[in-house]
Amino acid sequence: MPKMLPKVIKALVQKPATVRYPYEKPEPVEGLRSGVKFNIKKCDQCQDCERVCPSAAINVTYAEKKLEYFPFRCICCHQCIASCSQGAITAETVARSPDYKKVTDVYMGMP
Ligand code: SF4
Ligand code: SF4
Repeated sequence: MPKMLPKVIKALVQKPATVRYPYEKPEPVEGLRSGVKFNIKKCDQCQDCERVCPSAAINVTYAEKKLEYFPFRCICCHQCIASCSQGAITAETVARSPDYKKVTDVYMGMP
């Protein structure tokens, strides 16, 4: 017990390592594996991202000039970022919050 005493005292006075989520949001960690976002103005509809995505989280509809991203299917592998020759896909800097609904991000207005 005496050996543990300094650690017990330190634990009592220092700030907790955790945050009170969802009331407090944790700081983004560098190199975080997160979902992705699209700069649709750069997209040429090549559909490479859709082809390489292992979880079918991207759907490009050429005729409608529409790109759909299903974040709740995304496993954050970033294969799509590596495949996009236009640099239209970037990683999000913060993890998406849990949700009751499986939302879809719809991007329109490709050049
Ligand atoms: S986001 Fe990139 S890889 Fe996906 S369709 Fe557009 S240009 Fe092609
Ligand atoms: S990060 Fe991986 S799983 Fe998510 S959309 Fe891109 S390729 Fe698909």
